[in-house]
Amino acid sequence: MSFVKRKVDKTPIEDTVFAIVKKAKEDKERVGAENVVDATIGSLYNEEGSIVAFDSVFTPYNQIAKETKAAYASSFVGNESFRKQVYEWVVGNRSALAHSVIATPGGTGAVALSVQEILDEGETLVIPEIAWGSYRLMAAMNNVEVATYSLFEDDHFNMKSFKEVCERVMQKQKKLLVVINDPCHNPTGYSLSMEEWKEIVAFLNSCAKQGEVVLLNDIAYIDYSYDLEHCRDYISCFDAFDEKVMCVIAFSCSKSLTSYGLRCGAAILMAKTQQLVRDVEIVFEKAARATWSNIPNAAMDNFTQVTTTNVEAYIKEKAKYIALLKERSDIFMKEAKECGLACYPYKEGFFVTVAMDNETRDCYHEALMKEHIFTVKVNKGIRVAVCSLSVTAIKGLAKRMKEILDTL
Ligand code: PLP
Repeated sequence: MSFVKRKVDKTPIEDTVFAIVKKAKEDKERVGAENVVDATIGSLYNEEGSIVAFDSVFTPYNQIAKETKAAYASSFVGNESFRKQVYEWVVGNRSALAHSVIATPGGTGAVALSVQEILDEGETLVIPEIAWGSYRLMAAMNNVEVATYSLFEDDHFNMKSFKEVCERVMQKQKKLLVVINDPCHNPTGYSLSMEEWKEIVAFLNSCAKQGEVVLLNDIAYIDYSYDLEHCRDYISCFDAFDEKVMCVIAFSCSKSLTSYGLRCGAAILMAKTQQLVRDVEIVFEKAARATWSNIPNAAMDNFTQVTTTNVEAYIKEKAKYIALLKERSDIFMKEAKECGLACYPYKEGFFVTVAMDNETRDCYHEALMKEHIFTVKVNKGIRVAVCSLSVTAIKGLAKRMKEILDTL
């Protein structure tokens, strides 16, 4: 007997992160925190081991009137000032496409709306083979199938696999929803080059000859790019999209503002005509109203304030942590190269991923824990969260990891 709807997968979520976080915590209590490397936590942490909460974000937040915090947002698609500022912050003057912005609870809300409202049951979502786990879960919850493209060919994006998988799905369902998590891909830290993006845009246009194409560009980590000045330039390529291609950019305030718990984000819809955008906007608005109604009013207002009147202080504070992230990842990648620990091509972002097949990964993950090193298993690899490891903890880590790998 079961009380939930018939067509739903009832196997429990395979908890690859929180279960290991718990083990790491227990190990710290047993042997002392200084003897444990906890590379599991996917939020930005400082060198002292605490979560980073930017002063430039939370001082203005704490000054917001309690009545503003108490109030509903002014619309199901979000406050007008927030919608405008999200577009300004992410796209600015890089595109002439018609557009709209729907406020969502985090980037999660934007990705979930897209999967739920763009594909019909039984259709297929295309995602990277190494990816944030929620894509697959969202597909499953909507009875949507998943097809994966291989991410890399040597040290660059596997364009051949991307094209093959998209073509196969397109042929079958005459419609395509494809996720590209870029820049700062989670969990490998890869970012596409401008040339790669141009080739993707041209290819999606060719797919559109057979039906509608939606590119879901998940930019959750964009504000930690090591090249902030140019990391949004690729968006200008989207202007070359044909009528039958739409882009949904999933934006997250969680990472950008270190405000994971405030549940604020947005879906930016972009297409050739306002009518095409409006068509999707109507459905997304209804789905938003039917699921979360509206998102936190104060979180939206705070984003607008932080990225306008407070922007200098915010950029300055964030820059300090981007430099720290770079220092940490540079050490890990340099040492990994020196000792021959194979990693996926990292460029920027919160995570580095050690490359291996899944069979080796499972024993390796266990072996690492025996040596008090806690990591997260991902498809074809082991994720090391450089975002939360101190420089001291990172120094020598790659070599230790390689030595443990060699004992298997
Ligand atoms: N996309 C990716 C790749 C992520 O890793 C995450 C969070 O970990 C998200 C989207 C969504 O985060 P949030 O819903 O907190 O904005």
